[in-house]
Amino acid sequence: MMRGSRLLLVERVAAGGSSASGGGASASSSSRASFSGPSGGRAATAEEAARAKGAEKEKRRWSFALQDTPSTIRKYIDDVDKGYAIRLSLFVGILCSVGYTTYQYFVYRQRHLPLAQRWGKFSPTVPITLLERTELPGKMHLYRFALPTPADYAGYEPVSSVRVHSGLVRDMDSISRWFTPVSHPMERGIIEFAIKDADPGRMASRLHHLTTGDVLYLGSWMKEFPYTANKYTDIGVVCSVGGSSVALQLMKVITANENDKTRLSILYCAQSAAALPFENLFLEMSKKHPDRLKVAFNVLTRNGRNSTVANGEIPVNLGLLDHTTLVKSLPPPPIADPVTGVTPDASKTKILVCAPTSLMAPLAGRPSPIWNISYYQGPFYKYGGMLKEMGYQRSQVYKFGVSTHILAHHY
Ligand SMILES: Cc1cc2nc3c(=O)[nH]c(=O)nc-3n(C[C@H](O)[C@H](O)[C@H](O)COP(=O)(O)OP(=O)(O)OC[C@H]3O[C@@H](n4cnc5c(N)ncnc54)[C@H](O)[C@@H]3O)c2cc1C
Repeated sequence: MMRGSRLLLVERVAAGGSSASGGGASASSSSRASFSGPSGGRAATAEEAARAKGAEKEKRRWSFALQDTPSTIRKYIDDVDKGYAIRLSLFVGILCSVGYTTYQYFVYRQRHLPLAQRWGKFSPTVPITLLERTELPGKMHLYRFALPTPADYAGYEPVSSVRVHSGLVRDMDSISRWFTPVSHPMERGIIEFAIKDADPGRMASRLHHLTTGDVLYLGSWMKEFPYTANKYTDIGVVCSVGGSSVALQLMKVITANENDKTRLSILYCAQSAAALPFENLFLEMSKKHPDRLKVAFNVLTRNGRNSTVANGEIPVNLGLLDHTTLVKSLPPPPIADPVTGVTPDASKTKILVCAPTSLMAPLAGRPSPIWNISYYQGPFYKYGGMLKEMGYQRSQVYKFGVSTHILAHHY
């Protein structure tokens, strides 16, 4: 009997001792065990120890039940008059805290990414500081901004645009507009925009008042036409002065990559030779990369300042845009060449149109107003105009500016 009691004691110690609540029960079972002999006693005590362990576990469970709430707090939660409001406030508070923590977690995870690769909905706007504003012909301005740190870079995939928030300029409320950067995506610490003065526009009035050192904010990014090096053999861009940012962005990306063999043909359209910003830049680049870049100009009149286009130093198409100009300036449509008999591969040629509706409509038809949460270019009957007449297929033509809806695919 003495041996049985000692065994019981040893087993209890091994089990970590019994709980206070199980104490009484274990005392009675141990006395029962003392009558059932040494082996029966051992079984009973093991069972007892397991139960005590269970009670201990029950006491130390990590989960939280409402009954565990301290009685002082529970008193308020269960209050007949204020309980509902308190429970609701608690619920909303917890929900907001979880939401805010999740947001901060995503912000933290994305802080090392290039600006355009941050998930727009989960990253704060990025302040950019105006360094320089250069006035160009055609009411165009080139804005050069510093990114928050010299190591930052836009890192966008061409052709992309970013939503620029004005912040509080001269106490005017903050508004935002899309702009297409013209600096290379890998340029460190700097971002540039070519912005046409849309006076009397709302953003235009804020941009007028910007001085060096003023801050704007970059918001979410959208990738409109997805460009991949060497995917197409030829890309033709028809752009107006306001749409020249797209041509500049593509030109910078393509010419900076020596392995990219895509041929880019730009047809740059303006009212007059006086309104042709970046004329010299386009010409310089086409001289530097004659095998990959071809630039043609179309102006309604040569009148204007002294320029290569106005002086007639370079060939320029005068008057309204017509088939002859398009044939000379763009890659050929997929129809058999009358001389060689060769039909260009339609999947290897793309024509991009970035112009106001007054130019886009006669060229390729109006952009579609429906389903603008995607980059859907509209039903077949929305494609028409000169490009269709020349034989370009609907799938070959991309019209810019069709998707500015808040739900559109952004980064
Ligand atoms: C994807 C995308 C990329 C873009 N990229 C560029 C870019 O790189 N560069 C660029 O310059 N633009 C770009 N734009 C256009 C730009 O976002 C703005 O639409 C443009 O700058 C005009 O903005 P705003 O606020 O000044 O004009 P808003 O106030 O929006 O007015 C729109 C037009 O109406 C006219 N208007 C306004 N009020 C009056 C009035 N009372 N009487 C007469 N006319 C009036 C304005 O002059 C303007 O032409 C882009 C647009 C998109 C969708």
